[in-house]
Amino acid sequence: MATNITFHASALTRAERSALTNQKGLTIWLTGLSASGKSTIAVELEHQLLRERNVHAYRLDGDNVRFGLNKDLGFSEADRNENIRRIAEVAKLFADSSSIAITSFISPFRKDRDAARKLHEVPTPGEDTGLPFVEVFIDVPIEVAEQRDPKGLYKKAREGVIKEFTGISSPYEEPEAPEVHVRNVDLPVVEAVRQIIEYLDSKGYLPPKKE
Ligand code: ADP
Repeated sequence: MATNITFHASALTRAERSALTNQKGLTIWLTGLSASGKSTIAVELEHQLLRERNVHAYRLDGDNVRFGLNKDLGFSEADRNENIRRIAEVAKLFADSSSIAITSFISPFRKDRDAARKLHEVPTPGEDTGLPFVEVFIDVPIEVAEQRDPKGLYKKAREGVIKEFTGISSPYEEPEAPEVHVRNVDLPVVEAVRQIIEYLDSKGYLPPKKE
């Protein structure tokens, strides 16, 4: 670790940045089994936030993270932890910049999600408050996820081709107190997004809806 670095405080406080951009930064952390619907919901959520609420929102998902920032990481336990740690750090930077980060990763372990939460909620030097961390549990029974199986991953996991697959041969630790709990069976995607936006509105995190 570098020792000859110092933390150079920004000329703007977070409150000043929020006032100038007319936006509060935060992270929306989607968690759930593979094929629970995280990506589908993230895409529609991002679109609605941009289109209807005029805020900057950006998705971090397997496609733009695993092929770029984290392309040096594999699927060992240490690499999976590091994957989530880096995603949390990047999401926090987006949130700190007054943007809305939407992450969609299985993130099966409570300790990793709690670490991501703590990273946001504990104030950084020079700030009075932390950043909102909105944990959204995309909840489907394993049987439903396995039946959807759009990429054939559950089938490969059952055949033993993929080792340590979440829900089959590796645990998924359900969130105990998520900010939003979406039961994503027989639910249209717009309804799932409505539930998330309703929570954000209840907290005053979004500017009013455009007329
Ligand atoms: P994840 O990102 O959690 O792996 P995806 O968003 O890729 O999941 O969704 C997995 C599959 O489930 C896709 O084929 C998607 O169309 C479908 N799906 C998502 N949400 C629902 C839903 N509420 N009802 C039925 N199918 C859904």
